[in-house]
Amino acid sequence: MLDLIIRGGDVVLPQGVHRCDVAIAGEVIAALAAPGSLAGDGARIVDATGKIVMPGGIDPHVHMRHPFAMPDGTTLYTQGPDRVGMAALYGGTTTLIDFAYMTADRSVAASIEARDRDFAPRSCCDWAYHLMLASDPPPRQFDELGEAIEAGYPTIKIFTTNIWPQRTGRMVDFGDIWEAFKVLSQKRGLGVIHAEDNDIVMHMYAKLIREGRAGFENLAEVHNTLSEDLSFRRVLRLAESVPGTALYMMHVSAASGVAAIAEARAKGLAVYGESLHQYMLFTAEDYRRPNGQIYHTYPSLKAPQDQRALWEGTLNGAINCVATDELCCTLREKTMGRRIDDTVGGNSGVEPRLGVMYTEMVVRRGYSLPRYVDLVATNAARIMGLYPRKGVLAVGSDADIAILDPNRRGKVRSEDLHETDYTPWEGHDIFAWPVTTILRGAIVVDNGRFQGREGAGRYLKRKIADEILHGPAL
Ligand SMILES: [Zn+2]
Repeated sequence: MLDLIIRGGDVVLPQGVHRCDVAIAGEVIAALAAPGSLAGDGARIVDATGKIVMPGGIDPHVHMRHPFAMPDGTTLYTQGPDRVGMAALYGGTTTLIDFAYMTADRSVAASIEARDRDFAPRSCCDWAYHLMLASDPPPRQFDELGEAIEAGYPTIKIFTTNIWPQRTGRMVDFGDIWEAFKVLSQKRGLGVIHAEDNDIVMHMYAKLIREGRAGFENLAEVHNTLSEDLSFRRVLRLAESVPGTALYMMHVSAASGVAAIAEARAKGLAVYGESLHQYMLFTAEDYRRPNGQIYHTYPSLKAPQDQRALWEGTLNGAINCVATDELCCTLREKTMGRRIDDTVGGNSGVEPRLGVMYTEMVVRRGYSLPRYVDLVATNAARIMGLYPRKGVLAVGSDADIAILDPNRRGKVRSEDLHETDYTPWEGHDIFAWPVTTILRGAIVVDNGRFQGREGAGRYLKRKIADEILHGPAL
């Protein structure tokens, strides 16, 4: 018994694009068949003639309902999984991976439960968490992390810097990172790493403040390419010393980071790279535009040659995913900080990511549709332990589907989006846009009309595939 048939679209499969029908029974894909060949007795029909049918996008790096210390001393809680989840679905993304924060005073399980209380009643999207370590994790936490990996929470987020001079509690010492890598290796988890050299970064903060150059337009001097070079190599060398450690380097921003990943992969290490859609399209020059903070997230935008290396990385395997580092707030909040040490990080972009990357990858750079889908969906599913449940249109996979209309052209305009009151992509060319989104068989955006529901999202327990852990599989 089929419930839904998507008819006549150009369907993006791993092996290429095929004109076929996608049949859905309940929450999963039941068949892929020649156009018109399925008897659809009673099934709802979605006509996808002339449209692109692809797996729902997967964003492996978002921060929802995230506490952020503002310049005026208040704490900003960014938009949560209701608003951001809705915007993601509008933009064809069906799965988001956020973070659960570990603290010394409670168990790993209690930290996960605390985050669940925020998310479960509100999330419109399917979601998961990376477990975020804090500074000085108590020794018992490593055992609990091992248990959590086995229980379906297999990714651990680690910072090598506090990012800001006035902030404490983020940076994890290398001894503790070493212990974490042993747990990851033994329990078959994956480290997701924010790597910057804390000494270099803090040195540059002090130097620029001393020299009276504390404006945010100088952020690339603080969070610089040398810092990425030193820190990536130190982390990767540590991983090499613990056989079986697999790492995902988050928000790679510099050519030096791309090179460090490529070298580690050439040695056979299981290392993967992520960049962000703002790093792929903006450079440090954009800080000088009006409201230049809207292009920023930490570490920082870099130079044109760094951006070129990121794009080359999407072709040579060093960059596997293009994420957002979503941190949804208003323009006023995003531009409140004006200094190198108080500018709000993260970004809004979970909605336009698929459309903007279609323009940049498929139209402007000639990437095949399967390669585009790999970079915005499939690779994240494979690396993060969601494949083949998510990230692919295949029989038995969850029916998470984005239908893009290549006739929907124009420009990105913040008033057309559903995240907040600004977008860094204002005026960006559109050559295709998600018009219909399906989450586990349910049509949640129907030709631009939202039909999703808060609380309809489901938590995704995960297990990292052996091939991902054994070496650079993608
Ligand atoms: Zn982040």
